[in-house]
Amino acid sequence: MEVVFKNVTKRYGKTVAVGNLNLTVKSGALHFLLGPSGCGKTTTLRMLAGLESVTEGQILFDGKDVTRLPAADRGIGMVFQNYALWPHMTVLKNIEYGLKLRKLPKSEIESRIKEVLHITQLTRFVDRLPGQLSGGQQQRVALARALAIRPNVLLLDEPLSNLDAKLRHEMRDNISRIHKKTGITTVYVTHDQKEALSMGSDISIMHSGILVQTAPPRELYKNPESPFVAGFIGETNIIHGTYKGKDGNDHLVDTALGVIRSERKFGDFKAGSGVFISIRPESVELALKQSPNETNCFEMTLSHLTYLGDSEQLQFTKGDTVIKANLFNALDHGLSDGDGARVRFPKDATLVLPPDMQLGAGT
Ligand code: ATP
Repeated sequence: MEVVFKNVTKRYGKTVAVGNLNLTVKSGALHFLLGPSGCGKTTTLRMLAGLESVTEGQILFDGKDVTRLPAADRGIGMVFQNYALWPHMTVLKNIEYGLKLRKLPKSEIESRIKEVLHITQLTRFVDRLPGQLSGGQQQRVALARALAIRPNVLLLDEPLSNLDAKLRHEMRDNISRIHKKTGITTVYVTHDQKEALSMGSDISIMHSGILVQTAPPRELYKNPESPFVAGFIGETNIIHGTYKGKDGNDHLVDTALGVIRSERKFGDFKAGSGVFISIRPESVELALKQSPNETNCFEMTLSHLTYLGDSEQLQFTKGDTVIKANLFNALDHGLSDGDGARVRFPKDATLVLPPDMQLGAGT
């Protein structure tokens, strides 16, 4: 089932919780909504489910307008962070409940329960009460219950945030596996970028009620379209500068470190406009000796070094500019805190970005 938000706005009084959202969730996708607290993720999910009215715009399921369709008629399965299981009912009864409400024949109920217990690997816990299960197992019951109704769309709202780190990892694998097996269009809300990067087929980043970018994980990491997305997905160094124009294939940006050359940019800039350079810490290089390639080499001071065995994290400063570098399998450079050093930004790893748009909506 494909889900489309067309110019969807949700207002609470004067607060714009979601502003003019245009978003397509492809059929069969595991689509993440990611963003800081209060950016409108849950509101978007609740409008999709029919639990929240839409102020303006339309929601389409496979092209059919469902904007005014009651929640019960949308065929949505939901899983929340607090599981919302019936504590006095066994695993079996919890899963069965929704199927009985739908007045399905007994044989159909039995076969569906068997199927979802198998998919979620809960068959041996069928007679237990929720209180006799671990957090991860309880979350799998919530998932089994949502899957049993064979939803058109499955909605997951921070499903792992009550679990400890180890269980979260296990459940990530479980959810990915179950998603692959069922192929149900799934919308997953989180503020954990690792969850989104490791599991998502697409990720939408929201900020202050606005959708700022949608792309598959690798694309989003490699080609963020704004400093906000570059910093929110993974870590990055952001350097402010002034666009000077082109020299061959290179875009030149004047910064406090000097002129930085970049082969990549997003947006169109006039000479003199304010821009930002983004470079990931793992792309920053140490330029130990004078080398023939002096492009984008800058003298800085090593202000802090953290040795981690397989890698090192270095922090360089010059004036107000701070640059972080993650070096993997670094050669023995002999540098320590306070030493002068030269860093290099490979031209193909620097990206020129426009300033973040004015994100006035929301809070
Ligand atoms: P979190 O990650 O903290 O759950 P979120 O991204 O899911 O945040 P929403 O819960 O969708 O954000 O809220 C978006 C904005 O709408 C916030 O500014 C919030 O305060 C506001 N909001 C949400 N629900 C209501 C409501 N019922 N009445 C008034 N304002 C609301």
